[in-house]
Amino acid sequence: NEPTQFFLTDRTEAHQRYRPVPAHAHKGTQGHALIIGGSYGKIGAVTLSSKAALKSGCGLVTAYIPKCGYTIVQTAFPEAMVLTGGEEHINTIAFDIEPKAIGIGMGLGQQPETQQAVLEFLKHQKTPMVIDADALNILSYNNEWLNMLPENTILTPHPKELERLMGSWEDDFEKMEKIRAFAKEHKIILVAKDAFTIVACNDRVHINSTGNAGLATGGSGDVLTGIITGLLAQSYSPADAAIFGVYLHGLAADIGVCETSKQAFTASDIINYLGAAYLKIE
Ligand code: AMP
Ligand code: MG
Repeated sequence: NEPTQFFLTDRTEAHQRYRPVPAHAHKGTQGHALIIGGSYGKIGAVTLSSKAALKSGCGLVTAYIPKCGYTIVQTAFPEAMVLTGGEEHINTIAFDIEPKAIGIGMGLGQQPETQQAVLEFLKHQKTPMVIDADALNILSYNNEWLNMLPENTILTPHPKELERLMGSWEDDFEKMEKIRAFAKEHKIILVAKDAFTIVACNDRVHINSTGNAGLATGGSGDVLTGIITGLLAQSYSPADAAIFGVYLHGLAADIGVCETSKQAFTASDIINYLGAAYLKIE
């Protein structure tokens, strides 16, 4: 077994992966992101994620949600297009748009009908994808299912979701090795979220340098999934989208808490400070 190679994502690394907006860009060239999630009481998760995708720079965003969220998303986020499946939770996933990237799982819930719809949907995907939250939890029931995902699909578990996926670990060294091996075995990119988020891909482990405890607040992970999906839609490679997205998300929080405090910082603030973060990287 080759020794793990570690890389720190600092500003230089992030800048190298950063892609400026071409002068002749229009919404059609900047990519269409599809965000799938939400259930009764958790429409906020998919609203935050969709907004974050657009603010990361992609051209168009469609939210795919259950009908109970229709008015909420259209009102809270007028820039989004909305498609629906199911009443209070998603029970079918079918659409005739061609997104460049898909983010799935935020606020989705785990109703049996939802689980079936998600598995059926994932089975037939070829589009670059980010899988988070309840979509990860559904996949955790059977690790064989991970092998149906397209190569380089990005998974974004927080520590509990990570444990459900790959079992527990004794210490940070074992955790790191397990993450690397898991990403390799399933040919995926694993974003293990924590105070220092690590991204495992192609036998490399990238340790992020931005972010702070202001991010310990509901919805911050949903925003991260939106950002990475938005970057994928803009044709960032999956590795770049994951590494750069994690850095950008943390940097927005580092800038934001200087003005709001860590206590008052919310997931919406990450979205509000994304612009300031971009200006520091470009
Ligand atoms: P989730 O638990 O899915 O909402 O995701 C939480 C997000 O906030 C992840 O991107 C974490 O890396 C980030 N986060 C949470 N707590 C901290 C912390 N103390 N320091 C830095 N980042 C954090
Ligand atoms: Mg989460």
